[in-house]
Amino acid sequence: MTSLTFYGGVNEIGGNKILLEDKDTKVFLDFGMSFSRRGKYFEEYLNPRTSNGIVDFLSMGLIPDISGVYRDDLMVMAGKKPKAPDIDAVLLSHAHADHANYISFLHEDIPLYMGAGCHFILKAVAERGTRSIEREILDYRPRPYNRGDKPVARTVNEFRTGDKFKVGSLEVEPIHVDHSVPGAYGFIIYTSEGPVVYTGDIRLHGTHPEMTEDFIAKAKEVKPIALISEGTRIADPETEESEPLVYKQCSKTVSETNRLVFADFNFKDVDRLNTFYKIAQENDRKLVVKMNDAYFLKYLSKDKHLDVPDIDDEHIIIYLPKQGSGTYSDSDYKGNDKDFLDLHNAWTAEQIASKESKVLCAIGFYSFTALIDMKPKPGAVYIHSASEPYNEGQEMSQDRADAWIERFDMNKFQSHCSGHASGQDLLGVVKTIDAKMLFPIHTEQPDAFAKVTDKITIVDEGIKYKI
Ligand SMILES: [Zn+2]
Ligand SMILES: [Zn+2]
Repeated sequence: MTSLTFYGGVNEIGGNKILLEDKDTKVFLDFGMSFSRRGKYFEEYLNPRTSNGIVDFLSMGLIPDISGVYRDDLMVMAGKKPKAPDIDAVLLSHAHADHANYISFLHEDIPLYMGAGCHFILKAVAERGTRSIEREILDYRPRPYNRGDKPVARTVNEFRTGDKFKVGSLEVEPIHVDHSVPGAYGFIIYTSEGPVVYTGDIRLHGTHPEMTEDFIAKAKEVKPIALISEGTRIADPETEESEPLVYKQCSKTVSETNRLVFADFNFKDVDRLNTFYKIAQENDRKLVVKMNDAYFLKYLSKDKHLDVPDIDDEHIIIYLPKQGSGTYSDSDYKGNDKDFLDLHNAWTAEQIASKESKVLCAIGFYSFTALIDMKPKPGAVYIHSASEPYNEGQEMSQDRADAWIERFDMNKFQSHCSGHASGQDLLGVVKTIDAKMLFPIHTEQPDAFAKVTDKITIVDEGIKYKI
């Protein structure tokens, strides 16, 4: 009658694709991209072919081979019959790629449900990035693509905490949680067998632990029959970490130098962005952002819930990279980039370097060529405020970043707090909610939950579990 089938997030971190079936109703909880699976076969210059539509993704097991799920245009391209979808909805927990991106392939008639904040972030990401077949969440280009074809928009239903909504036989109650991107939610889903709880990605050491605590309290109250919990760091050693600690450590580092400071962090992590914005102001420096991220600010600053500075903020500088002729000529900048030219706060690398003690450059590794133009004096500081590398590809990037840092005689400083709850916190969450069944996902070590419960199901991919 009621069941769960896991098509991703099984013995891997991310790529969640969880099918919940209840009577005649079928919903997916997230439909994300699995970085580990993709990285197993593909890399920078070896990518699934857009010209082959969905076939490369299916053939290499990057998405599950199930019918009545995928876009008509992609099915036709693959030589299959298009079919009306038999999925009633996708409930999206948050905007991270490992939860959202492979919605790109899903049938256009499947409605999406997401938090208003999540929708906002996805729109901002779509605005700043280039379109790709793996990033067509809110709308997509029918393939094969013909010039002039208009993108097809998907149906998005927004919710906020406190809302409840129905999908077929299910009632869904989303509750805000704290994570390293705004607009993150956990779900309580009332099925005909009882409530099923899904954590999405959560943490308790961030800027808003009370949001995750709200979710845990409510989840406990409903006495769930099943808990689907993330377990990213379930077996990691405990460390002292929090956003205030990142702030304290990085602020101290910045206050101790008069040299150029670079800070590398993920712009989607709005808490971290605000941490560095605050550090810049307190140290009488302006925050320098990339053009790409300027689009992001322009967008996010419109949401009054986020408290993000706009691009004309007096504490923001936009880094104007060399393009085209390399002479910063007006004609070098195309499209929307042109808009930034007239702003008094769009600075070249040379202008930024001339004010070394008055700027905090939030332009990371992928803009390191700026160093060639900036010629920083020895002793400039590079703050790495993101997670340590966790795969081979990232390790190579790290080695390269270190080589640049050495070449320009910079000092490196690491400070970060994770978007995911610590092992101790996760065990506490599971114990508190005390569901009849536990399904650990989004982890390489699901068995580590056995410390606090014997109601654990170690999930196999593609198997239907009755609940
Ligand atoms: Zn995730
Ligand atoms: Zn996440």
